[in-house]
Amino acid sequence: MRTPGRLAGKVALVTGAGSGLGRASALRFAEEGAAVACVDLDRAAADRVAEEIEGLGHPATALSADVSRAEDAERMTAGALARFGRIDVVFANAGVSGAGSAADTTEEDWDRIIGVNLKGVWLTSKYALPHMVERGRGVIINQASMGGLVGIAGIFPYTAAKGGVIAMTKQMAVEYGPANIRVNAICPGTIFTPLVARSRQERGADARSDAEANAAAALRFPLRRLGEVEDVAALALFLAGDEANWITGGVYTVDGGRAAM
Ligand code: ADP
Repeated sequence: MRTPGRLAGKVALVTGAGSGLGRASALRFAEEGAAVACVDLDRAAADRVAEEIEGLGHPATALSADVSRAEDAERMTAGALARFGRIDVVFANAGVSGAGSAADTTEEDWDRIIGVNLKGVWLTSKYALPHMVERGRGVIINQASMGGLVGIAGIFPYTAAKGGVIAMTKQMAVEYGPANIRVNAICPGTIFTPLVARSRQERGADARSDAEANAAAALRFPLRRLGEVEDVAALALFLAGDEANWITGGVYTVDGGRAAM
């Protein structure tokens, strides 16, 4: 018999669950007893992760949505509620990379990146909030970034969005604290997901192999390694669970010490 996990009996909705940080977190939440609504723009990727979770004997459902569109966000929330009857935890994780300086970012890129990484984070919880308020409990975790805390050259629109996520997290925590809804932000440092690989290419990376570039990047971190998706999933799990009951409005780095420099 399995011992009850840290999210036993809870329902979590994770966006961007098809890949990288979202996938690792969805799997981790499920391992700890949560039923998981896996949302992704990429329907096939969401399906694969939901199947993976079900294969491990945990309940999951796959939903496709573009979190930057209100109608999709409303539909994904309704879909998760229809399947599981409630939502305890929302992890607004879906994101896209965005390269450029303030001078060379195009209006189109700004709108696209802010649309997913900032507006999308808002929309992800917008339709779950009334349900959480009605139940008198809920947890929201917003995916920010080290880039929202310190300046990193070459990722201007991404940084702007992530800084906004941090401010939005604090505002939501204050607004919804009295309703017993906790809202926290996670700021990961560099973790070599497909997003980081794309971001590197967009910034005109040199001819070094990924392994060489990762080894060089690791030297910029006090702990001298890049992060693993599991490092972020572990923090998300803690914030999602009842052990974090008195934690809200927080901004948590999981970055090998980089933002402390
Ligand atoms: P990371 O895990 O570092 O954020 P990935 O690119 O591995 O980077 O994962 C991001 C996930 O978010 C992908 O599965 C991608 O399909 C998803 N995603 C990107 N944009 C959207 C969007 N607008 N709506 C929903 N999911 C999205």
